[in-house]
Amino acid sequence: ILLKDNIQAREPNKDDFIQNTVEVNESNIPDDKVLVRLVDVSVDPYLRGRMSLGKSYIEPFKPNEPILSGCVAKIEKVGKNVTNFAAGDYVAAMLPWQEKAVVSVGKDWVKVDPKMAPLPSFLSLLGMTGLTAFHGLMEIGEPKAGETLVVSAGSGAVGSVVGQIGKILGLRVVGIAGSEDKIKFMVNELKFDAGINYKSPHYKEELAAACPKGVDVYFENVGGEVSDAVWPLLNFKARIPLCGVISAYNKSADIGPRLQIPLLKTSSKMQGFIVFNYADKNPQAIKQLSQWLKEGKIKDKHTVNQGFDKIVPSFLSLFNSNHLGKMVIEISKD
Ligand code: NDP
Repeated sequence: ILLKDNIQAREPNKDDFIQNTVEVNESNIPDDKVLVRLVDVSVDPYLRGRMSLGKSYIEPFKPNEPILSGCVAKIEKVGKNVTNFAAGDYVAAMLPWQEKAVVSVGKDWVKVDPKMAPLPSFLSLLGMTGLTAFHGLMEIGEPKAGETLVVSAGSGAVGSVVGQIGKILGLRVVGIAGSEDKIKFMVNELKFDAGINYKSPHYKEELAAACPKGVDVYFENVGGEVSDAVWPLLNFKARIPLCGVISAYNKSADIGPRLQIPLLKTSSKMQGFIVFNYADKNPQAIKQLSQWLKEGKIKDKHTVNQGFDKIVPSFLSLFNSNHLGKMVIEISKD
């Protein structure tokens, strides 16, 4: 699957993508390459940023080149100079949206053990989105028991983990999301203290009522009007991990000056971050998240769509979908 052309400030649609058939030479693998078969594909809001041109922490996708995202794949064959992976291994890696591909082994490829957790978990709790939640909350949010944590997109891949970590650490957790099913999921399954629907006509009042002691940590995933209701509730020295601003991804950035006065008045700290900033702390984070998973203290929810043809629609639905937890596309079973 290729990107037809770079997309500017508008919502992407299926016509922005091209699906091609290419011949993969499976019988003759170059010495330094491997043949991989996709098992699970992650679609993520940040991919939208790579579809536009502009300054960023990562290069834009180029027109007519395959789109890459985090994937779990099975290695089917290895070239004779590849020593760190063998046929039959599963890896979590950035790979092209291509059912099978002959590719070089990346420095950041991680061998994953299907006995340790279901394979999609290496794209969610034990992968990029779990690490984003863990590092953003622990490093910037500085959560303390008894405080109030609010998380937007609280039922999604990152938000569902942020809120659950908050509960484990003894905070009051309030999740914000856009449907009643998501509110029920956050409160009934994830055990958040409250879930607030930003589409409710009384959203601002309901959010304020759910945070009677104000907000100490706001984990920002969304921006725009959803977050405008949070700013007046900030406590003195609140912390705001700025993880994402999905409401602006199809527009020009729009956090705006309405944020500066609340930050000033409350001496609060807002800090943007990218999960890769904390890569040196990934081993400890994975150890902790795996332990919580094993102890049943944290749930790793997936919404799984099946089939290669579902990759593009699943990506597009991130901007208005009803998925719960991490959106994953299962390409093949093994
Ligand atoms: P999610 O699983 O949370 O899916 C995105 C959700 O965002 C949707 O389900 C939708 O939920 C909500 N949403 C979409 N459009 C809007 C809108 N206009 N206004 C309000 N809510 C909207 O995705 P992820 O957990 O993967 O990502 C969440 C955030 O984290 C994103 O901003 C992403 O860019 C960021 N991120 C940042 C990383 C980093 O390193 N800094 C790494 C990974 C993710 P709803 O129905 O509630 O509206």
